Amino acid sequence: MTTSLITEHGVLPIALGDNWAYALPTSDGIIMIDSGPDYDGAWEVLAGQLDAAGLDIADVKVCAITHAHIDHCGLAFRWQDEGVNVVASELETQSFLHGRNIIGYQTQYVFEHMRRVGVPEARIAGFIESREKMRQAYRSGDNTGGGVRRERWPGLIRGTPFRPDVVLSDGDEIRLGDRRVVLVSAPGHTPGNCVFHEPDSGVLFSGDQIIPGLNSNPGWHFDISVEPPERFRSLPAFADSLDRVEALDVRYLYPGHREPSAEVAEEIERVRRHHRKRQGQLREFLAQGPLTPYELLTTMFSRLPDRRLWQAMAEVTGHIDALVVRGEARERESDGLLRIELS
Ligand SMILES: [Zn+2]
Repeated sequence: MTTSLITEHGVLPIALGDNWAYALPTSDGIIMIDSGPDYDGAWEVLAGQLDAAGLDIADVKVCAITHAHIDHCGLAFRWQDEGVNVVASELETQSFLHGRNIIGYQTQYVFEHMRRVGVPEARIAGFIESREKMRQAYRSGDNTGGGVRRERWPGLIRGTPFRPDVVLSDGDEIRLGDRRVVLVSAPGHTPGNCVFHEPDSGVLFSGDQIIPGLNSNPGWHFDISVEPPERFRSLPAFADSLDRVEALDVRYLYPGHREPSAEVAEEIERVRRHHRKRQGQLREFLAQGPLTPYELLTTMFSRLPDRRLWQAMAEVTGHIDALVVRGEARERESDGLLRIELS
């Protein structure tokens, strides 16, 4: 048995493709943070890494999920099959029930919204085509994604709907043996996103709220329980959540991607700097007069390949939302087309 794989904070980082899941051994079983993504062979890799650290997968009692993106919750159903209690935030519950249709892939609403913000049909078609090409390359085993980019996992990842066994609210604790982890609501990256804080060690399992060296992309999420579906303004919520996280006693980050880091304040400031820069650019562009979000996108990213359209559109939208929520800009809609103007 080796325990050297377990960090000084009593955490076993488990690498699954581009993602980290974390095992926290306690005096009475193991807490998992995030389930890990579900690709062919992922479960065996996970079990192997626990075993290599001298931990038994059968000792896992709780699996706590940060958010409803399939790379973080894809194996939740599998943990439930093993009798493990899956714990999640009440704000995110609905999303888990819908599997792939909701979790990052509300395609129908996304394309409708693209038209509303001025994206030409030809570019939407180009985006759909490039995505299909990438998927085909992936299925045929070409791991470069058709020469476009390296894929983030060894295979296609799946989203299986599940109902969390235990639903927690902001500030609720997960207690197991000699450890306790607190759920901290951090909406933004997804509408019901949360992070997990261990006060005794000053460790934060930051999911996709703080990813060292990377700017977490604000997504497009639609609340489909109302008609017409309402778009969630993700970036302003994300920025508020960053403030909430900053107020905690955090000395070390275990993120959902990239490397764990002790540079907590630096990472938070880096993200804020990026937001200020982008929002400053948008104000500059808008000083010339009202523009559609798509016109703002093409001004900001003049040579954007079609395959990046969704992601880039979501980013620009996020920064527009920040200006709108702060009252610095206004949205005006006429003939089904949205235009942004400075207040
Ligand atoms: Zn995510």
